[in-house]
Amino acid sequence: MSFDMSYEGPGDHTVRLSLRNFEPDMSTLDDYMSQKVNETHFVVPAKGIVKIPMKVLRTAPWWTDMRHVPVFHTDMRIDNVTTFDLSVGARDTEGRHRVELRSLKFHGKLVSQNRLLLVLVGTWIGCALVWLDLALRHSRSQLSNSTTRLALLSKVNEALELETRELAGQAYTDPLTQVLNREGLRAALMEKWQHPDASAEQFAVVFVDIDHFKKVNDTHGHSVGDEVLCAFAAAIQRGIRASDKLARWGGEEFLIICPGTKAADAHLLAEKLREALSYQIWPHGLRVTASFGVTALQPGEVIGDAIKRADSALYRAKSNGMNCVRVA
Ligand code: GH3
Ligand code: MG
Ligand code: MG
Repeated sequence: MSFDMSYEGPGDHTVRLSLRNFEPDMSTLDDYMSQKVNETHFVVPAKGIVKIPMKVLRTAPWWTDMRHVPVFHTDMRIDNVTTFDLSVGARDTEGRHRVELRSLKFHGKLVSQNRLLLVLVGTWIGCALVWLDLALRHSRSQLSNSTTRLALLSKVNEALELETRELAGQAYTDPLTQVLNREGLRAALMEKWQHPDASAEQFAVVFVDIDHFKKVNDTHGHSVGDEVLCAFAAAIQRGIRASDKLARWGGEEFLIICPGTKAADAHLLAEKLREALSYQIWPHGLRVTASFGVTALQPGEVIGDAIKRADSALYRAKSNGMNCVRVA
C-alpha cells in the first residue's frame, strides 16, 4: 500500500494502520470485534509517499488476548478484508493534530477468481504435461535400451547359429579326409529321401577298400598312411558326380552312393575310378590300388541290405586278387 499523506502537530507523527479480516471460523456478522485485526504502525514523513508492504501487518496481540483466540488462528490473513482503518497512535502527545490523506493505492496484480482458477488449472495441466513428457522420455530411453539389447542378442544368436551350423558340419564330416562320415551320409540320404519322388529313384552303391593299406602304415608310418587316405578320398571325390555322395565308412573303407544310377553304370564308374587311382601320383612314390564292390538298390529294399551286398561283392574282389571291381 502507498499513502500520500501529511501530518502536522506535536509528537513523532506515528499512525496506526489496521485491516479487519472476516474469517468464518471465528467472525460473525453481528459482532464487529469478531473480525481479525491486522495492524502496523508507521511514522508519516515530512514529505513524500509512504510505502507499506502488506507482509509487515501482524495480527494485533491485544485483539487475540481480548478474544482468547487459539494460537493456530493468530496468523495474519488479509484474504477477506472488510475494513481499512488509519488512526493516530494512542501514545500521541496531547494538542492539535492535523492528518491529511490525499491518496491511498494498493499495488499488485488484481486476479479475478475465474482467472485464478484458470491459472491453477493451467499450471496443473502444465505439470501433468511435463510429467507425461518425462515419463515418455523415460520409456523411450528404456525402449531404445531394450532395442539395443535385442539387436545385441540377435547378433549373439546369429553367431551361435553359425557356430551350431559349423558344429553340425563337423559332426557330419570326417576330420581327416573332409568327406562325409557315416552320420553325414545318413543325413544326406534322409534329406534325399524326403523328396516326394525319391522312392522312384534308382541308387547304386559302391564299396571301396584300399588294398594292403596296413602295409603302408607299417612301412612308412601312420602319418604317411593319413596322407594316402586324404589323397585317396580326394581322388575318388574328383572322379564322381556332384550328386554322388562319398563317405568314409571307417578305416580305409569308403562308400559311394550314386542316385539315378543303374548297376551297369556304377560298374563303369568303379572301373573308371580304379583306373584313375593307377595314374595318380602318391606320396613317397607309393603305388596305391583299391578293390570295389558294386550293387544297385532293388525296389522295396532298404539301403542297409544294398550296402551289405556291395560289401560281399567287395569281399569277392579282394578274394579275386584285389585291384578289381565286382558287381552283385
Ligand atoms: P586288405 O588289402 O585286405 O584290405 O588289407 P588292409 O591292410 O588294407 O586292411 P586291414 O583291415 O588289414 O588294415 C587296415 C588298416 O588301416 C589298419 C588300420 O590301422 C589302418 N587305419 C585305419 N584308420 C586309419 C587312419 O585313419 N589313418 C591311418 N594311417 N591308418 C588307419
Ligand atoms: Mg584294405
Ligand atoms: Mg578294410
